[in-house]
Amino acid sequence: MTKPDKKTSSFMRSLCMGKIEEDLIVPFPAMKKEEGESLRTIFDSLNGWLKTKDKDFREWDVKGEMPRSFVDEMKEFGLFSLIVPEEFGGLGLSATGYSRALQQLTMYDGSLALTAGAHSSIGMKGLVLFGNDEQKKRFLPKLATGEMIAAFCLTESGAGSDAAAIRTKAERKDGKWVINGEKIWITNGGIADFFTVFAATDTPEGKITAFIVTKDMKGVRSGTHEDKMGIRASSTTTIYLENVEVPDENVLGEVGKGFKVAMKILNNGRTGLGGGCIGGMKKAIAACTKQAKQRKQFGRAIAEFGLIKQKIGNMVVDCYTAEAVVAMVAGNIDDGFEDYAVEAAISKVFATEALWRTVDEALQIAGGNGFMREFMYERAMRDSRINRIFEGTNDILRQPDL
Ligand SMILES: Cc1cc2nc3c(=O)[nH]c(=O)nc-3n(C[C@H](O)[C@H](O)[C@H](O)COP(=O)(O)OP(=O)(O)OC[C@H]3O[C@@H](n4cnc5c(N)ncnc54)[C@H](O)[C@@H]3O)c2cc1C
Repeated sequence: MTKPDKKTSSFMRSLCMGKIEEDLIVPFPAMKKEEGESLRTIFDSLNGWLKTKDKDFREWDVKGEMPRSFVDEMKEFGLFSLIVPEEFGGLGLSATGYSRALQQLTMYDGSLALTAGAHSSIGMKGLVLFGNDEQKKRFLPKLATGEMIAAFCLTESGAGSDAAAIRTKAERKDGKWVINGEKIWITNGGIADFFTVFAATDTPEGKITAFIVTKDMKGVRSGTHEDKMGIRASSTTTIYLENVEVPDENVLGEVGKGFKVAMKILNNGRTGLGGGCIGGMKKAIAACTKQAKQRKQFGRAIAEFGLIKQKIGNMVVDCYTAEAVVAMVAGNIDDGFEDYAVEAAISKVFATEALWRTVDEALQIAGGNGFMREFMYERAMRDSRINRIFEGTNDILRQPDL
């Protein structure tokens, strides 16, 4: 039996060509025992802290902002250190462990999970994947403690799905890069100090380059906090870049190869988003099954009616399948496979839509209560909707040729 080539093998790409490469998925990837044990300890302390915050999460959703003091608590609990390698002071979680951690956070609050997730999944992922030793030494210890919070700056008013159309420019001047442009809807924009910025660089090597930009650079400014439908307490702002001088040592990856950097970050980050969706599903299933057992109509608990059982059955099938699909992609990444773009896209599309179906049906089971702010359902629905839009819309991910 020939071993699969880790650079080029992809189970789903092969399947599309009618070839079944079992060696890629058998044995089914599993989390390492030691990592599972340390996660359990971490979750025990997180649960003790977060279970006291439910009222606060609800208030911050209504207000549309979380206080800086809570972000400081997130730092103390190590929520910005999840994927930073241990040698730089982080927890060094694998893709599998990280995905599981985001699942845990989403069980408490979507904005909390997004704040931690945008930092790790996309904000500083480029540094972890493409940074050189000097860049890692310079920034990773600060990113691990949360002294620096990270954000990913790709989208512009004229470049959403068509990310290659960005107009933010980086030009060479006096031995430096000078960046001008505006990035919109940047998660963590109002609290971040470290930005992975993509800018057009008309160089023979390629059209886009990724840069590390820091808040202390002259000309970097965040806009006002966006008033959103969901994940309202998370920070989303415009980032203005005006004549920002960036030294060569802050180029991330190779000059001209920034589009590849962006796509690799997004593909790799999808296991975090997938984990979040699974957490959201589990929370909704727990809430609506409890509700269905307690609520009596026609003389019995509504949980006894076949139609309600069927709805819950479908949710559980969706949740189990999403967890398996996300675990498969994370396992492939942890096993060192490099071509998981198709699998990651499938996992994002499936998990985000499964979450949407689940929260919708959970709200339906709760009936009128589901529509009331007092219960968790309407917030879960508002918080879930974004997942089908950001980190590549599901429509775009359904078209592998784009
Ligand atoms: C709350 C929030 C947080 C975000 N965080 C970040 C962030 O941290 N960093 C960042 O860089 N960006 C961020 N974004 C931006 C996000 O990634 C984009 O909104 C997303 O990529 C879609 O771009 P768009 O909104 O411009 O939609 P458009 O590209 O204008 O698309 C509009 C619609 O048309 C569809 N469409 C477009 N082209 C096609 C096609 N060829 N075929 C079929 N359908 C198509 C899309 O699927 C969509 O439904 C965030 C957005 C939001 C709302």
